Amino acid sequence: MKSVRVSALFYILLSCALVSPVYAAEKRIALTYDDAPRSDAVISGDDRAAMLIAGLEAAGVEQAGFFITTSRINSPERLQRIQSYAAAGHVLANHSHTHPWLREVTAEEYLADIDRASETMALFENTRPWFRFPYLNEAPTVEKRDAVRAGLVARDLRNAYVTVDNYDWYLESLYQRAVKAGEAVCMSALSDLYTDMLVDAANFFNDVAVETMGHSPAHTLLLHENDIAALFVLDLVAALEADGWEIITVDEAYQDPIADIEPDTRFLGQGRVAAIASLNGRSPKTFDHFAINEDQIETAFREEYGVIGDRTD
Ligand SMILES: [Zn+2]
Repeated sequence: MKSVRVSALFYILLSCALVSPVYAAEKRIALTYDDAPRSDAVISGDDRAAMLIAGLEAAGVEQAGFFITTSRINSPERLQRIQSYAAAGHVLANHSHTHPWLREVTAEEYLADIDRASETMALFENTRPWFRFPYLNEAPTVEKRDAVRAGLVARDLRNAYVTVDNYDWYLESLYQRAVKAGEAVCMSALSDLYTDMLVDAANFFNDVAVETMGHSPAHTLLLHENDIAALFVLDLVAALEADGWEIITVDEAYQDPIADIEPDTRFLGQGRVAAIASLNGRSPKTFDHFAINEDQIETAFREEYGVIGDRTD
């Protein structure tokens, strides 16, 4: 009997070894781009939108999400850009009219701003009833948090949470400043930094989820409709896939059970997985990944990755 038990154990161990790469392939993530339509930068807004649409298609991304700040739609060209995302199969949702901090306005003013955005969103095809909080600023106080949550429910709007927070916007600002200052930017190094930062952030928050919940949820990656997103969308998808991630639609991501949880905490600014983990006893101070640290991103940009240097490729 003893040898039977040993061999059974052997097969259990063997099956775990065989199964583990399958688990690694089950990391799933959707791409979402905030603040569209952003202004012209190094790349014009029109070119940027065309690059993003072409890049997403070339990368095989069936559906990304674009979160619209409707006060930015101030020209026929910008309206057309938003329509072009929907025409390419991507989904559009509400990111407010004027992009306010909830901490700086009343809950009533905040909800009125959302309503104003909803009026414009009604012009578009392929919209979803989702609201992405500007700055992920959801809970300056419990009272405001609960008032806005109730307001969203009353409007049939769901919280378009993220699970993978990161400061892609800060890396974009370093890139824009360097170009303005006439510095030589090594684009391949910038791509390496962008993709490493985002893949590492996805794995960081996935590890937190697995530790907290015992499994990997469908993730939602926070990105912005900026130049580096357009320049490196193919590189990003390739890097995620090489690391075992599958790109899923935003519709699929928001079918995850965590979409129905509104965590009872004010620690919501690092996304839903971090919020759930904090309620399970993890200290908010432990969310110290380099992708959410401006100093570390700048050091990586200036020193570790050599984005600024002699090379001009
Ligand atoms: Zn935003």
